[in-house]
Amino acid sequence: MPTLFAVATDESIRASVGLVLRRRYEPDYRVADSGDVDDALRRLAEYRDAGEEVALVVASFRMPGCDGIPFLVAAHSLHPGAKRVLIIDVGDVSAAEDLSQALTLNLVDSYFGQPWASPEEELYPVVGEALRVWAREHQLRYDKAMIIDSKSGLGGARMRGWLERNSVATALWSTDDAEGRALLEAHAVDTDILPVVVLYNGTVLADPTDAELAEALGASTHPTRDRYDVAIVGAGPAGLAAAVYAGSEGLCAVVVEHDAVGGQAGTKLQDPQLSRLSVGVTRRRARGAGKSSGQSARRRVRHRPQRGCPTR
Ligand SMILES: Cc1cc2nc3c(=O)[nH]c(=O)nc-3n(C[C@H](O)[C@H](O)[C@H](O)COP(=O)(O)OP(=O)(O)OC[C@H]3O[C@@H](n4cnc5c(N)ncnc54)[C@H](O)[C@@H]3O)c2cc1C
Repeated sequence: MPTLFAVATDESIRASVGLVLRRRYEPDYRVADSGDVDDALRRLAEYRDAGEEVALVVASFRMPGCDGIPFLVAAHSLHPGAKRVLIIDVGDVSAAEDLSQALTLNLVDSYFGQPWASPEEELYPVVGEALRVWAREHQLRYDKAMIIDSKSGLGGARMRGWLERNSVATALWSTDDAEGRALLEAHAVDTDILPVVVLYNGTVLADPTDAELAEALGASTHPTRDRYDVAIVGAGPAGLAAAVYAGSEGLCAVVVEHDAVGGQAGTKLQDPQLSRLSVGVTRRRARGAGKSSGQSARRRVRHRPQRGCPTR
């Protein structure tokens, strides 16, 4: 079971962070905490030596002996895959510059403030997003689309990129792979026309167009009305914001997108820079807000030099 590890030298912060993490995540993760930086690093080194996975490390920004950012740097050298979250004292304006620099330099992934109004509002969204990204990178997924292409084929890789940009978990096999051959056999498909796409519901498509694939996955590719009040071309942040605004004014709006909802944010899903948009609005939140509130608002989308830490 992967571990969520929290370190805070302030006893009340350590206790409350440990409590809320256990309350929400303990069935799926082991939650461990420490009030001492040396102890924390020793235990993280033990986990590494035992081959135990650490998904998330949470640390107070200010701790005697070793501040949170250098602690997270040391923790990262022990568990490079673990997401790193800082706890900032609300009102500690002097933290802003270090925090900004650490986010920019990819020394931390995100942060939340304490005290928090409620964990649901301020802590769980940050931890949840960090774990979503961690799980995407480290855990097995249920692939909703499986593409089989020839070893030298480019179409399958392009198709996979497009599906992943649109949040469809996709596997790509070559016809030389045992998995690819098994899929073709199971669906009685020959290799005359490649790539072949097998969807989660058994639908098999031979070299489909983007539109055919989108439709097979339930996306809307044609207008459903004769007339719209507003047509917005491009479902990037600007287009989605315009659609939400139009919908909130009672206008019937259609958003036309030819690649991926989310715009540059959606099309750079693999970019580490974009997984740290928590300073403003997260990619996912921006895209989620567009998808949910927009739908209820009558519009359619077509388609961070601190004290150092010992190293181990
Ligand atoms: C690597 C990288 C890192 C970034 N990091 C940050 C960051 O940390 N913080 C931050 O705030 N911003 C960041 N940005 C910038 C941010 O992503 C952009 O400012 C923002 O996406 C611009 O939004 P937009 O809606 O104006 O345009 P876009 O996001 O470009 O969206 C335009 C949309 O229109 C679609 N489109 C274009 N032509 C057509 C057509 N003819 N028909 C249909 N659809 C069409 C495109 O497919 C696209 O989806 C980053 C950008 C990049 C590339």
